[in-house]
Amino acid sequence: MITLDDVILTFPDGASRVTAVDHVTLRADAGVVTGITGPSGSGKSSLLAVAATLIRPDAGRVLIGDVDAAELTRDEATTMRRERIGIVFQQSNLLPSLTAREQLLVMAELGGTPRAQRHRIAERADELLDAVGLSGQAGKRPAQLSGGQRQRVAIARALVHEPDVLLVDEPTSALDQERGWAIMDLVARLTHERRTATLLVTHDLVHRDALDDLVTIVDGANATSALSMARGG
Ligand code: ADP
Ligand code: MG
Repeated sequence: MITLDDVILTFPDGASRVTAVDHVTLRADAGVVTGITGPSGSGKSSLLAVAATLIRPDAGRVLIGDVDAAELTRDEATTMRRERIGIVFQQSNLLPSLTAREQLLVMAELGGTPRAQRHRIAERADELLDAVGLSGQAGKRPAQLSGGQRQRVAIARALVHEPDVLLVDEPTSALDQERGWAIMDLVARLTHERRTATLLVTHDLVHRDALDDLVTIVDGANATSALSMARGG
């Protein structure tokens, strides 16, 4: 489970500060995809960076299970990310020289990864490439893959260390509609099967059927949840 509780995040802006996230509260339970939508510049990516423990908020709590990630030191946050959080960015951020399978295996080489976990990652790489429909592409490098296939590798990589929390930022923005659908369905299926608590940023509400809940952010703050209203709660 991940809960962001009354989170505030500001950035320096000349002599003053700009408020990117303004008292936002949202959550995703295990096995649930909570969508985050809102206009460009409304603070969605900033919110995800806070959830990812990449940026410490000015105020508020970031509960991952029963740990408040907003209180962690930098080293503790790094460990938290390595063990419990999977992240998929807007661009797939794959390493050009590595094959699809190696993109996953390299996660085992991150400094400080315990030996037992390294072994498990190697075991899981093939199973995950299969789960995202890429077993036939395991030996290909990013340049030999389509945009949709690259996003699938990024999703498999984010899951290879069995995170409790999956964070996904606009995974379909570089894809045509059909491939976009397939990626959204994939995130939903993997979330339900693997019981991750998933936060997924999307500006495109045509994908809302893949979401279990939807939170709208406007000017950094919670607006009404359109999907909850449509579903009567
Ligand atoms: P979204 O993902 O919804 O498009 P962002 O979270 O990227 O929105 O941005 C929200 C606001 O925070 C914007 O005004 C943006 O300019 C500002 N912002 C984001 N990142 C930084 C940063 N690293 N430094 C300063 N301002 C930032
Ligand atoms: Mg963004």
